[in-house]
Amino acid sequence: MAAAALAMAEQVVADLRAKCEKPPSMLREVAAEMAREMGAGLEKEGGSRVKMLLSYVDKLPTGGEEGLFYGLDLGGTNFRVLKVELGGNEKHVVDRYSREVGIPPHLMSGKSSELFGFIASELAKFVNDEEKCTNISNGKKRELGFTFSFPVKQRSVASGTLVKWTKAFSINDAVGEDVVAELQTAMGKQGLDIHVAALINDAVGTLAGARYYDKDVVAGVIFGTGTNAAYVEKANAIPKWEGELPNSGDMVINMEWGNFCSAHLPITEYDQELDKESLNPGEQIYEKLTSGMYLGEIVRRVLLKISLQSSIFGNIDHTKLETPFLLRTPHISAMHHDETPDLKIVAEKLEENLEIKGTSLEARKLVVEICDIVATRAARLAAAGLAGILMKLGRDCSVEDQRSVIAIDGGLFEHYTKFRQCLETTLGELLGDEVSKAVAVKHADDGSGIGAALIAASQSQYKNDLVA
Ligand code: BGC
Ligand code: MG
Repeated sequence: MAAAALAMAEQVVADLRAKCEKPPSMLREVAAEMAREMGAGLEKEGGSRVKMLLSYVDKLPTGGEEGLFYGLDLGGTNFRVLKVELGGNEKHVVDRYSREVGIPPHLMSGKSSELFGFIASELAKFVNDEEKCTNISNGKKRELGFTFSFPVKQRSVASGTLVKWTKAFSINDAVGEDVVAELQTAMGKQGLDIHVAALINDAVGTLAGARYYDKDVVAGVIFGTGTNAAYVEKANAIPKWEGELPNSGDMVINMEWGNFCSAHLPITEYDQELDKESLNPGEQIYEKLTSGMYLGEIVRRVLLKISLQSSIFGNIDHTKLETPFLLRTPHISAMHHDETPDLKIVAEKLEENLEIKGTSLEARKLVVEICDIVATRAARLAAAGLAGILMKLGRDCSVEDQRSVIAIDGGLFEHYTKFRQCLETTLGELLGDEVSKAVAVKHADDGSGIGAALIAASQSQYKNDLVA
């Protein structure tokens, strides 16, 4: 490779780094703006891009929940059916069983009835298989918690209409419809008699699932295919709420922070183009910078530019590199974590996914650097979002005996080690040493599954009966 080509590519990467880097002072601005947007979203309907949706969950699990519940978890690229048995205070989760099913891509942009039909048929299979081995026919109607990880305007804890699709979904005829009614209709067609006891967002489920084990959990956050956060707000601090105040005085808010946007966000030409060509242009801007669906795609766009401008990868065929979403976040994670001296894993991933062969070590080093820039920006902005929530809760200063735990779930957080490490260090930087001691970030395993069962349990029609 000519020295000139390398120099040209290095320049593109240097420019990218300069645009993406945010010193702590600017991240604090992002945090402060997130906190302000939260207030504006609570103030009035449409008061902010951050919707601050009411979940109608007014109490979080105590640990005493009991019973057998089914769950559905729809949100990313897979969907899951679950069965969870809750054993009360001593035993907690006695048993859980889940089955993951890939969603055929054509269903993500087809018709609502087709998607819900598919979900209900998978649920029917699961229920049938399960009930062959367990005897739960104790005369009670089965109950289900539905985790639906898209913005929903809820009317109660078990009903709500879809505001818009996000991530890879776009099924026009579902927007504005009650997703529980659609599910009930589809289940009816399968002859399934199941009561939907709760409809929740995955961030709400993560909060509920983590609170079940630890009373200091103040927020549930997702960094997966998409991103979102939920936290407990004082009901009397929600001016836009017109209903009766709940006895608990609390209300869980589904923030829908993925739609956050701010002039302080470091948005590059690659992000602008990605947004323009996305299923939801102009929306979910924070999500497009910080979540798993998009990080690989941003890197792909940078690689394409470099390759076209500098031929740093040699004289390659660009068909693969020009294909949107072909390079996925797990691939960039693998390249970013490559510790082999000659960056063998980078070479493999480039070849397997993009048909870029025979790269030089210098070129591979640049690829790693691009992954680093994109993932670091995501993690730092993610940390700023968390700091924003703590600010809104007045937990960004140290108070004796106050501990704040943020429970996080999602594949990006769980599997992308450098993302997670950078998120944690940056949060420490933003909060300072003293406050950091009282704030913990922890991985909440399977909040969206357990959380739905727990909320269904607390809303159950058969609350006082024990399951046989
Ligand atoms: C959705 C949220 C969801 C998040 C994580 C976003 O795209 O709008 O409702 O919680 O993804 O799954
Ligand atoms: Mg999930």
